[in-house]
Amino acid sequence: MQNSMKIRYTCQRCTNCCRWPGLVRISDQEICAISRFLQCSEYEFIQRFTRLRPQRDGLALQENSDGSCVFLHGKDCRINPVKPEQCAGFPNTWNFPSWRDVCEAVPVLED
Ligand code: SF4
Repeated sequence: MQNSMKIRYTCQRCTNCCRWPGLVRISDQEICAISRFLQCSEYEFIQRFTRLRPQRDGLALQENSDGSCVFLHGKDCRINPVKPEQCAGFPNTWNFPSWRDVCEAVPVLED
């Protein structure tokens, strides 16, 4: 019999991933959803909260001078209900070597 159990990591809202310097890519659909959530126009959102990616192939969220995300406030994401797929997917859909050293997500077995 084959064992099909998988491990899924449950976020503990430690916000460590929001503090790492790096790109948080956002899609056109996410720009639409986030600007609606913030009750501003897409133009205003783009001007205030985004930057061009280094590869010039789209937009990313701005970061604070310490490298943290512009939407991190204390221990909360200001746009949590509509946060980008990149944020929601970590560490299950993508991660990087040694991510376990900084992320407090708890492993849970799933069928
Ligand atoms: S959008 Fe929210 S979840 Fe994503 S990095 Fe910024 S603060 Fe963190």
